[in-house]
Amino acid sequence: APSLSAYDPELATAIEAERVRQEAHIELIASENYCSPAVMQAQGSPLTNKYAEGYPGKRYYGGCEHVDVAEQLAIDRVKQLFDCDYANVQPHSGAQANAAVFLALVSPGDTVMGMNLAQGGHLTHGNPANFSGKQYKIVPYGLNPETGLIDYDEMERIAVETRPKMIIGGFSAYSRIKDWARMRRIADKIGAWFWVDMAHVAGLVAAGEYPSPLPHAHVVTSTTHKTLRGPRGGIILTKGQPEDFNKKLQSAVFPGIQGGPLMHVIAAKAVAFKEALDPGFKGYQKQVVANARAMAEVFLERGRDGRYGVVSGGTDNHMFLLDLRGCGITGKDAEAALGRAHITVNKNAVPNDPKSPFVTSGLRLGSPAATTRGFRQAEMAQIAHWIADIVDAMSTGGDVEATLARVRGEVERLCARYPVYQAARR
Ligand code: PLP
Repeated sequence: APSLSAYDPELATAIEAERVRQEAHIELIASENYCSPAVMQAQGSPLTNKYAEGYPGKRYYGGCEHVDVAEQLAIDRVKQLFDCDYANVQPHSGAQANAAVFLALVSPGDTVMGMNLAQGGHLTHGNPANFSGKQYKIVPYGLNPETGLIDYDEMERIAVETRPKMIIGGFSAYSRIKDWARMRRIADKIGAWFWVDMAHVAGLVAAGEYPSPLPHAHVVTSTTHKTLRGPRGGIILTKGQPEDFNKKLQSAVFPGIQGGPLMHVIAAKAVAFKEALDPGFKGYQKQVVANARAMAEVFLERGRDGRYGVVSGGTDNHMFLLDLRGCGITGKDAEAALGRAHITVNKNAVPNDPKSPFVTSGLRLGSPAATTRGFRQAEMAQIAHWIADIVDAMSTGGDVEATLARVRGEVERLCARYPVYQAARR
């Protein structure tokens, strides 16, 4: 058979260009990472051809003996990784895992409490454009405007007043430790389910660098491709729940919301879980947190005059939000300018952002991908200075083009010294 580049040069060129972009640009999107060649190999394997509706040992199709091995490996490893006793590794994505939890535990029209989307919650935690916001009555909780930290007293007050059937912990943009025990106490007070979506911090949790929600939550979901550094996908986990509870989750995934599982992706998840069980993974996650802090410290220092703010005053995980309101630059413009300097970030609303979600006044900065390629605190601090140089030039009438050209050159040199896939991981 002809190679992909011989058969479909148009597509092969796009793939190659993306590969080069990933090597040559600094990736600071908090939800992204570089998975290993072994993960990609499993995902590109013949397992993609197999139908395997059902679960290991109980399939609706013949010929499942080998994919059963792959799925059982993924289940056993992820249970060991997160010290839990039930795992479903079939959700195609984080959003699918979350949809299964809604289907299993609440009914359309029920009240559900989730983190305010403008303050760090995820689309599937109640956005009006998402099924979660369309089918359920969402009551939000959020941050104390003074501290930028979660206001648990206010959360409890709202929960007691509105009596949601389920409370969602977890976030897409919050840089501090969430108090899972406190949230569970609030849920218990009103007889609600407590579900944690740990997608962003799953890798940190696996390595013991962020408190595990599993001892506190009735159910935990996650993606596998963010800090956990696996293939794109989702998982559902529980610990100490009765059999019938786990069964509800099991049938919510299949046949509830999905058909045939993606066996090649499940195989790749198994590889990623093995990698996360390796002692070296803890060192990686420690570096992820140290690197996010090294970046945040630069902005706290250079922003002392009020030009930049770090929402919540710093970070305890892999990310933080840079508040640009003090220098009058929008997240949208900053994202575009940094992109031209080959630094990839995403614009993000800051709490009480006066700008629309398409414009915003902030950036979300994360360290997982940059850490995977080997950057340590010195490189991360340098990158934060480059970002600040660009934002300064934009906001003070400096020579933006010259600054962009200088930083782009520096970024090119730094990336060349730290190849992602050519060299063994440091
Ligand atoms: N949950 C959280 C907290 C997320 O941040 C995300 C993705 O950004 C998801 C779920 C959704 O994951 P996916 O994009 O795989 O559907």
